[in-house]
Amino acid sequence: MSSSTELIHSIPVDPLTGSISVPIYQTSTFVQDAPGVNKGYDYARSGNPTRQALEDIIAKLEKGTTGIAFGSGLAAIDAVLKLLKTGDHIVAVDDIYGGAFRLFTQIYEKFGITVTYADSTNAVNVFNAITPATKLIWIETPTNPTLKITDIHAISKIAKANDCLLCVDNTFASPALQQPILWGADLVVHSATKYIGGHSDLIAGLIVTKNEELGAKVKFIQNASGAILSPFDSWLAIRGIETLHLRVKQHCINAQAVAEYLQSHPAVDQVFYPGLKSHPNHHIAKQQAKGFGGIVSFTLKDDSIEAATAFVTSTSLFKLAESLGGIKSLLCHPAQMTHKSIPSERRRLGGVADSLVRLSVGLEEVEDLISDLQQAFEKPGLSSVTAKHKLATA
Ligand SMILES: *Cc1c(COP(=O)(O)O)cnc(C)c1O
Repeated sequence: MSSSTELIHSIPVDPLTGSISVPIYQTSTFVQDAPGVNKGYDYARSGNPTRQALEDIIAKLEKGTTGIAFGSGLAAIDAVLKLLKTGDHIVAVDDIYGGAFRLFTQIYEKFGITVTYADSTNAVNVFNAITPATKLIWIETPTNPTLKITDIHAISKIAKANDCLLCVDNTFASPALQQPILWGADLVVHSATKYIGGHSDLIAGLIVTKNEELGAKVKFIQNASGAILSPFDSWLAIRGIETLHLRVKQHCINAQAVAEYLQSHPAVDQVFYPGLKSHPNHHIAKQQAKGFGGIVSFTLKDDSIEAATAFVTSTSLFKLAESLGGIKSLLCHPAQMTHKSIPSERRRLGGVADSLVRLSVGLEEVEDLISDLQQAFEKPGLSSVTAKHKLATA
């Protein structure tokens, strides 16, 4: 059976009523027949049937045993960190999601958990960063926003040999393209706010574990800390998942065309997209994923904050907003938006140049998207900045 058929039919029909849509169990508690005797649920922080349906679907999609749904992607990341204790060490991908960087450095470092950032595109860098205290390796692939690709299987071998957990933030690829547990990851994390929700109408996070033992630990942490996803938001996430495969397929087609267009534009310096043959780890992306995703980043020849600002305020179909993965195209300027919390020096070291623009290529007709980018390159704002820059550097 194809994965999309399997997915659509893994969404359960309600056993009580036959409702084909998963019911929203908007309740805080469940009546018990006798103390401790119940129908599988007692209090809705510990479990809710709507949330459980989502958790079962994502576990199946990611080829793990246990799914756990959180109030945001960061709440999910936070729960993984709570598997650690004071004195433990993390090796993390260097251009990590800005919010994860902030959580690691500004919350967990004060509890004595240390982090070394490494360019995980070369597994040797991860190996070299491991210490006897390392308990967790944290990667994203593709990364945000420079679309670096890490070989999940190679990193999982290092994790196993050093007795530490490997967690993959699979937000950019989604399980429609990549299933890290099949390549040896112990945990997968999602911001379901992005492709899984898919319609820019939801904040949610998910964790999938490769075995039940780890799943029980994460579930314990969630119940003890309380960062659950609401029944209605669980329902929205399920509704998003119903079209995940179809949406992601089209996101990939559109993004490939946009990346090729950008590569040919004279104002563009570099294009970052794993689907381009020029991408340094194109072959690994091809090996471990079924497609290259919907995110494309690029830098301008005029590598300035001003030029990027002029560009991102000149598009009309691409809306200027944080976030990604929805049906509507978005663009953002990481240096001033998503990556503002990362000090500029470290941001540039991680490959996020001043002029880097990130596109979340949506599901509009791709010719319309390319015309929108074309007219933005031609807007007087950008050309005058470019002209001034040329004069200044002449
Ligand atoms: C958005 C995002 C997160 C954080 O998720 P929220 O749902 O916003 O809390 C984590 N990782 C990546 C890669 C993201 O893009």
